[in-house]
Amino acid sequence: MDYGLSEEQQLFRDEMRKFAEQSLAPHYQEDDRTGEMSPSIRRECAAMGLLGLRIPDEYGGQDADAVAVGIAAEEMARANINAAYLVLSTALVTDILLAGCTVEQRERWLPGIADGSVYPTLALTEPGHGSDAANIELAARPTEDGWTLHGEKTSISLAHLADRAVVFARTGGPGARGVSAFYVGLDAPGLSIVRLRDVGNRAAGRCSLFFDGVPVRRDELVGTEGAGFVSVMQGFEYSRAIIGLMTLGTAAAALDDAMEYARTRETFGAPIGTRQGVAFPLVEYATYVAGARHLCYEALWRKDRGLDHTEAANMVKWWAPKIAVEAIHQALLTFGHGAWSDDNPQSQRLRDAMGFEIADGTAQIAKLVVARHLLGRPYAP
Ligand SMILES: Cc1cc2nc3c(=O)[nH]c(=O)nc-3n(C[C@H](O)[C@H](O)[C@H](O)COP(=O)(O)OP(=O)(O)OC[C@H]3O[C@@H](n4cnc5c(N)ncnc54)[C@H](O)[C@@H]3O)c2cc1C
Repeated sequence: MDYGLSEEQQLFRDEMRKFAEQSLAPHYQEDDRTGEMSPSIRRECAAMGLLGLRIPDEYGGQDADAVAVGIAAEEMARANINAAYLVLSTALVTDILLAGCTVEQRERWLPGIADGSVYPTLALTEPGHGSDAANIELAARPTEDGWTLHGEKTSISLAHLADRAVVFARTGGPGARGVSAFYVGLDAPGLSIVRLRDVGNRAAGRCSLFFDGVPVRRDELVGTEGAGFVSVMQGFEYSRAIIGLMTLGTAAAALDDAMEYARTRETFGAPIGTRQGVAFPLVEYATYVAGARHLCYEALWRKDRGLDHTEAANMVKWWAPKIAVEAIHQALLTFGHGAWSDDNPQSQRLRDAMGFEIADGTAQIAKLVVARHLLGRPYAP
């Protein structure tokens, strides 16, 4: 067994940590207050090649493996989990496009994502259907040269900043086999976008999308008709491990800050870190974070080797954000009144990490998937 990163991976981690501390951390709290992501973040991420990590080099990308995406997302999230969203979303959309699109579509779509000129998001959730995504209702009605889209998507991250979205719509009958994926320009006629007011992840933000006869061409269909649901579910397995690392990166930063405070804050004549009641909970959460982190990287390592990673990725989808939220909560308490203010980042970290307990599938849905693997489908809930 080899638990270490290769020299190349370690260099990449070091580079990412430096970039995140210099270019992303300064915007973390400021962007939460304004509710807008600083435009320099997208620009600098594009310049670093981070938006094209999964894109093959012939289309201007980095051709990076899944572990590299995990390293980037984790290090970015230590400094600014909302900036890491850009890597999550571009990597997820890229994998869905690569799995389904033709060579001609790759040539048309991938270079723009890689150079940062086209930011993509993913539009699956609807007001009536989140967990049961196989039953989405957004209708794709056939026309002479394609379809028109009718209905509503909601809870779509970064849609107000995005240029395109992979939109899932019903082209066929009921259930998963009637769902197709389209790569839709978000400036299309008949499409309006309304921003939501959120508890956390405010710099990334979510939107509702209203489709009133939005035209999509036949060559904007991703893969074949009826293959949309399978493509998104395969992508989600991978993104669930990336989300795990994002939340754990944020938790690690929260614990680091709490430990530094425990060394310097004195009560009753001694640093608070010398009290077991302060030190041991931090140690316990550092242990949980380390354990969950290993499982995230195992899922990505398995993906890179073409091995089944469904079980590991879904285990960390329920576990990592939960551990992260609890660890950040404990880190917040370590500061006493000092963290009960927006000036201290702990409360924002808590709000931001909590969103990932829901995004991309809740804990219950992840556990359902794991139960089907462990118990076998006929015996699972
Ligand atoms: C920060 C954030 C970002 C998001 N970004 C995106 C995005 O970019 N694109 C996108 O398409 N969507 C996005 N979403 C939506 C997200 O994927 C859905 O919210 C999620 O899948 C859950 O769906 P729902 O909210 O409709 O909850 P529901 O499906 O209505 O579930 C409600 C509750 O019931 C539980 N539940 C449901 N079914 C079962 C069951 N069978 N067994 C046990 N419990 C069950 C759930 O766990 C949950 O607690 C985002 C959400 C958040 C919070």
